[in-house]
Amino acid sequence: MIEKRQFYINGQWVDTIDGRDHPVINPSTEEQCAVISLGGAKDADAAVAAAKAAFPAWMKTPIADRIALFKKLLEVYTSRSEDMAQAISLEMGAPIDMSRQQQVTTGTFHMNGFLKAIEGFQFDRPLGDHAPDDRIIYEPIGVCALITPWNWPMNQIVLKVGAAIMSGCTMVLKPSEESPLNGVIFAEMMHEAGFPAGVFNLVNGDGMSVGNTLTGHPDVDMVSFTGSTRAGIAISKNAADSLKRVHLELGGKGANLVFADADEKAVARGVLRVMNNSGQSCNAPTRMLVQRSIYDQALEIAAETANKITVGPSDAEGRHIGPVVNEVQFNKIQALIQKGIDEGARLIAGGTGRPEGLNRGFYVRPTVFADANNQMTIAREEIFGPVMAIIPFDTEEEAVEIANDTPYGLTNYVQTQDSDRANRMARSLRSGMVEMNGKSRSMGSPFGGMKQSGNGREGGVWGIEDFLEVKSVSGWTAE
Ligand code: NAD
Repeated sequence: MIEKRQFYINGQWVDTIDGRDHPVINPSTEEQCAVISLGGAKDADAAVAAAKAAFPAWMKTPIADRIALFKKLLEVYTSRSEDMAQAISLEMGAPIDMSRQQQVTTGTFHMNGFLKAIEGFQFDRPLGDHAPDDRIIYEPIGVCALITPWNWPMNQIVLKVGAAIMSGCTMVLKPSEESPLNGVIFAEMMHEAGFPAGVFNLVNGDGMSVGNTLTGHPDVDMVSFTGSTRAGIAISKNAADSLKRVHLELGGKGANLVFADADEKAVARGVLRVMNNSGQSCNAPTRMLVQRSIYDQALEIAAETANKITVGPSDAEGRHIGPVVNEVQFNKIQALIQKGIDEGARLIAGGTGRPEGLNRGFYVRPTVFADANNQMTIAREEIFGPVMAIIPFDTEEEAVEIANDTPYGLTNYVQTQDSDRANRMARSLRSGMVEMNGKSRSMGSPFGGMKQSGNGREGGVWGIEDFLEVKSVSGWTAE
């Protein structure tokens, strides 16, 4: 049994002051695989105090020194990537090969993205030629509480920690209690890289205890949160009394607009994109909108693609999908699949219950519904499991209307070989990101949403800017 009860505060591993034991469950077996501590208010207070004390010196540390430490972190991260892959796989169920190839590499991808973004970043710049005596100075906002979910843990932790380091903020990280082991390893890496004591602190805990203390804490200047819209609302309310900046990356219900002239791989690609990580991605294109002239053909391909996906334990090598993270998610997904059936959508792959041959573990059948409409629960709620709904459309205008008719606005997808239409769609879709024809967004591009998908941007230049204050100075004398 792995025991990771301590927290990383002020450059040291310390025992919890007012925490309690918490089991970590392996979702592939439903058995306990580790024990951590869920901290209390006093643990959170100690971490905030350390971050506050470290801030004045850290904000004045030259950017070149911060970059050098960050490069060292990248080196350590790369050398311990197998430990990280194993931890993520064990605690949240990502199949080991996928954990190595996708989960862990998101960390390196974003670290490199920050190193690129910082190259040309001007923390101190003139307002413009018209005002030679005016200066704009970017300063770190201060102590940041970083609260992350379990689904792409290194993606989310590195996006927040990287931006905080580059901007000169100090921080307290509270990873998800569902997958805390990767955060512990990440803290070990921060220590090995040699960041000054108090710059980075880690406290494990749940939303009600550590989460609540951090988001309402008078000495926390900013909360950067990734997780559910439900928690994002609760955090915003709790943070309101101290008027902190609240940076939110929330849920999604992405539409994938497949036009009649889409390339021949578009439908299969869309299904695989939903099912990857067992459907546990905020940007999954879970509503596939298909133009009616290719609808029947698309249903055939979608069913065939989903039926070919195998499901299995996270420690088995290969290209299967793993279980979903825990029992609560498993039950929620089962209920939503049942709701899809009850509301009249037509199952063309998967369904309720576990896949054949798997009786233990939180395994869900890759499921595709046809003949859905945008008012059905499966088209409105974020399911966070391997479940996709297909909705037919006739015209471009109708497709845009359906895609935008959602409380969310994270990522939408477009499949067409008509480049004018593709660009028109990119401008019409109300989401923070639009991905076209299977092309991924590049390193350093901003990740974030509109509407109830949040208000923050993470990664690259925009990610750094979100952690900065803008100071406007007049009467500046050229140095
Ligand atoms: P969650 O909201 O339950 O938990 C996320 C984190 O917030 C955890 O660390 C949790 O302990 C903490 N938390 C929960 N309630 C809190 C509260 N009241 N105060 C302070 N902290 C609190 O989400 P989850 O189930 O871990 O993750 C899945 C959700 O995350 C999905 O909705 C998904 O779409 C979203 N997500 C969004 C993005 C994005 O960038 N937009 C990326 C990944 C996941």
